[in-house]
Amino acid sequence: MSDTLLAHSAPMRQDFFENQGELLAKLAAEGQTPDALFVGCSDSRVTPERMLDAQPGDLFMLRNIANIIPPYIQTEIGIASVLEYAVLHLRVPHIIICGHTDCGGIKGLDKNIDMSREPALSRWLDLARPAQREVDFRLRDLAPEERHIAIVERNVIHQLRNVQSYPFVREALEADQLELHGWVYHLERQQISFYDPGADQFSFL
Ligand SMILES: [Zn+2]
Repeated sequence: MSDTLLAHSAPMRQDFFENQGELLAKLAAEGQTPDALFVGCSDSRVTPERMLDAQPGDLFMLRNIANIIPPYIQTEIGIASVLEYAVLHLRVPHIIICGHTDCGGIKGLDKNIDMSREPALSRWLDLARPAQREVDFRLRDLAPEERHIAIVERNVIHQLRNVQSYPFVREALEADQLELHGWVYHLERQQISFYDPGADQFSFL
C-alpha cells in the first residue's frame, strides 16, 4: 500500500531537495537561527514563506486560529513554550503577529458556537473578543466588510499587547534585542498592511 498524499508530492520534493540541498545540509549541521517568530492564523490561505519569500531556516512558526497569544497569566503552555524557545533560546530579533482578511476565527466571534460541541474553539475565540467589543463600541457605523477588517486589525493590536505581558519578551524589548510587528494580510489583493503604533493605524507600504 502506498501513501497517495506522499506519492503525489514526491516529484516536487525531489526537485526542492535538489535545488536547496546545500542550504538544508547546512541547517541540519549547524541548527537554526531564524530571523523571526511568525505568529499567524491556521488558515490554509495564509502562506508565510511565500508572503516573505522565506527559505527553510528563516521563520520560526506559531499558527493557531485567529493568530492569538493568550496573556501570560493564562499560561497556555503550548503557546508559552514557543515564545520561550523563540525569545530565550533562538533569540529571534523579530516577532510578527499577522492577521488576515476573511478570517473564519474572527467571523466566529459573531456566531453562537455550541459550547457542548466545540468547547475549545469557543473558549479560544474569547481571547479575541476584546477586539470585537472595541470596534463595536468605538466604530459603530461601519459596513460589514469594514467592520470585519477593523476587528482583524484590533485583534492584531490586542495580541501585540498580550505578547508583551510575558516578562522575557518585555526584557528583550527593553534591551533592544527584539522588535514587534503587527501585520494584516489582505488575501484578495495579496498585500500586507502594517501597524504604525504612532498613528495607531494600519498602512500599506
Ligand atoms: Zn484566520
